[in-house]
Amino acid sequence: MFESLSDRLTGALKDLRGKGRLSGADIDATCREIRLALLEADVALPVVRAFIARIKERAKGVEVSAALNPAQQVVKIVNEELVGILGGETRRLAFAKTPPTVIMLAGLQGSGKTTLAGKLAKWLRDQGHTPLLVACDLQRPGAVTQLQIVGERAGAAVFAPHPGTSIGGGDNPLGITAADPVEVARSGIDEARTKQYDVVIVDTAGRLGIDADLMAQAAGIRDAVDPDETLFVLDAMIGQDAVSTAEAFREGVGFTGVVLTKLDGDARGGAALSVREVTGQPILFASTGEKLEDFDVFHPDRMASRILG
Ligand code: GDP
Repeated sequence: MFESLSDRLTGALKDLRGKGRLSGADIDATCREIRLALLEADVALPVVRAFIARIKERAKGVEVSAALNPAQQVVKIVNEELVGILGGETRRLAFAKTPPTVIMLAGLQGSGKTTLAGKLAKWLRDQGHTPLLVACDLQRPGAVTQLQIVGERAGAAVFAPHPGTSIGGGDNPLGITAADPVEVARSGIDEARTKQYDVVIVDTAGRLGIDADLMAQAAGIRDAVDPDETLFVLDAMIGQDAVSTAEAFREGVGFTGVVLTKLDGDARGGAALSVREVTGQPILFASTGEKLEDFDVFHPDRMASRILG
């Protein structure tokens, strides 16, 4: 993950080692290298600009100190700024004061929402919660069954419209695609209240691209369930497109946090480094594989240390 970015950044900072004092030219040269490394990693341009400006500003003030030589101080600054663009403090999931806590998942089709629903359910169960998964992705054939499978693997209950009981029917072989996802979401919350599940995870439909109907549907579900957290699920492998996709979801649905998926396949790191600054919302979790356990809370400081080797 992020090998090339990591190599380039550590390389840029290595050049400073052994210098007792840093000249303006040294700092400029290092910043140039860092800038190139970030641009090659597909980090959004405004994020790169702001990042470099902050490093330059702070590096100018570096003086020889007893504890750290100038090069070490610049490394420290770069590390702190990296932690900053990744979100600073670890942002924990917000739970409702009165259960059930409602978590809605939104994102493009294929971003990993359904898989995430299972991962999140397992993670919550491991902490003693009783999650209920609610199947509101009624667009994609097989999405409901897929959620039932991940729910079973995670040991979590799944609330889904029963085949054949939906409005619609007709040329709808599964009998579910015509059901109203907003109604399903509402009934799912009722079910959680009745059966005392303490967290509800609402899986919603995604399209391959941004689409007005998709946004309207997700906004309708949001209004119906009033989520404590709306998590925008972002496939880190989509690179530069991550920024426009995130902005579209921010405008169309709004979200309180980001989950980065497929970090295991993201060689560059651009989405991870851009999304917080571009959307203003923190990254809460990261997915690093297809299995239920390939998932963890996102820690900006650990990620920054990893990037800087
Ligand atoms: P959805 O359409 O948003 O519900 O996406 P899915 O959950 O169906 O995921 C789409 C594909 O991505 C599936 O083949 C998943 O197994 C895969 N996937 C999901 N998360 C990850 C991840 O973190 N890493 C990898 N390598 N694959 C993932």
